Amino acid sequence: METKKVLLTEDEMPRQWYNILADIKMNPPLGPDGNPVTPDQLAPVFPMNLIEQEVSSDRWIDIPEEVLKVLSIWRPSPLIRAYSLEKALDTPAKIYYKYEGVSPPGSHKPNTAVPQAYYNKEFGIEKLTTETGAGQWGSALAFACSQFGLECKIFMVRISFDQKPYRKSLMAAWGGNCIPSPSNETKAGRDILEKDPDTPGSLGIAISEAVEAAVSDESGKTRYSLGSVLNHVMLHQTIIGLEAKKQLEKINEYPDVIIGCAGGGSNFAGIAFPFVHDKINGKDIDILPVEPTACPTMTRAPFAYDHGDTAGYTPLLPMHSLGHTFVPAPIHAGGLRYHGMAPTVSQLITEGIIEPKAVTQLAAYKAGVLCARTEGVVAAPETNHALACVIDEANKAKEEGKEKVILFNWSGHGLIDLTAYDKYLAGELTDFVLSEEEQAESTKILENYPKPEMVKST
Ligand SMILES: *Cc1c(COP(=O)(O)O)cnc(C)c1O
Repeated sequence: METKKVLLTEDEMPRQWYNILADIKMNPPLGPDGNPVTPDQLAPVFPMNLIEQEVSSDRWIDIPEEVLKVLSIWRPSPLIRAYSLEKALDTPAKIYYKYEGVSPPGSHKPNTAVPQAYYNKEFGIEKLTTETGAGQWGSALAFACSQFGLECKIFMVRISFDQKPYRKSLMAAWGGNCIPSPSNETKAGRDILEKDPDTPGSLGIAISEAVEAAVSDESGKTRYSLGSVLNHVMLHQTIIGLEAKKQLEKINEYPDVIIGCAGGGSNFAGIAFPFVHDKINGKDIDILPVEPTACPTMTRAPFAYDHGDTAGYTPLLPMHSLGHTFVPAPIHAGGLRYHGMAPTVSQLITEGIIEPKAVTQLAAYKAGVLCARTEGVVAAPETNHALACVIDEANKAKEEGKEKVILFNWSGHGLIDLTAYDKYLAGELTDFVLSEEEQAESTKILENYPKPEMVKST
């Protein structure tokens, strides 16, 4: 029998994360005074041990033993060869995926939730606040907090709170306290409710509420946690790509193409950054982050300084951004509806080291259904965007008659996100493409901020 899965033992789990800041140059985040943010300015928001990680340029950072212990509940995750999909596409390409749906919450997100909870606990913090859209991140952080005995408070975008009961149930099962955002508990929330009592809410508003709730807690024992975008989040996710590299080595393979969907950029960074390191050192690899056409941050938005949240509480980050008040069309991939993109991923785009792609919602679900019927796994709506790009690349390999090795990240399963599959199968799902006018309107706000420099790393 041909090998379907490549597995690692727990002893083979990577003991260090890869930090891409050792290999690229970046514009600094800017504080309210227009100067680079200092660690002290971030101290009310994050614990100092995570702030140190955020700014570290050490190439390798040790993974604490207690973190490895919790990760070992589901890690190392399997590397799986998609034989049935290859056959259905009649492609000479070999397609491998790293399957992150095996974690307790069902996605890659606990890879960073666990170390974030650990470092906060180490620093003496007792409670974490965060935001969540569809609930993937909120459930991952609730899980991680339960492992380390921390309280967890989650501000969930109101429309999802009302429409998606099951992730709320997961958060409750892990002891998290989830409330709809905007809420009456913060000034940011009250201001918005006063203007628009029936607002559906947004991720940007929920971030503002969670940050405010953390910094205004007088006990000093509460901090905020973010599930994507920041450097330390990308760092924690590199365990995915480091494992994949070992797994491919075992079968004497090396990827020609690497693909991941990108909302804030973390699961893509997780699989891709260890190989970006190789590319910077001369390897020839196509590295493709994929986004929805409804929220075309990487393929169309400018590289600019912008806030990470709607109220403008966060520092200005150098990133591809559609503007921090942008509200994307209601596509079902909740995790891909963020206005910005990780500064590290954005920097690699500006340098041409990685090449972003955009796919439509219908192409994504078409790919998801084909993969469900061949590989058998029902993917998360976000993952479907990566699948559509994988199929494009496999078809290209067929046209060129090349036996390419494609590696992609299967970021999560879709078992708590089935409504959209029902709609797709009933022919009720539609495509959204952001219009030029809407984009011009939403990016106008960026004119208020300084422009990042075009720095070159290589
Ligand atoms: C949150 C999420 C994403 C998008 O977030 P990134 O930070 O870009 O990885 C992708 N897939 C799944 C399953 C998610 O839950």
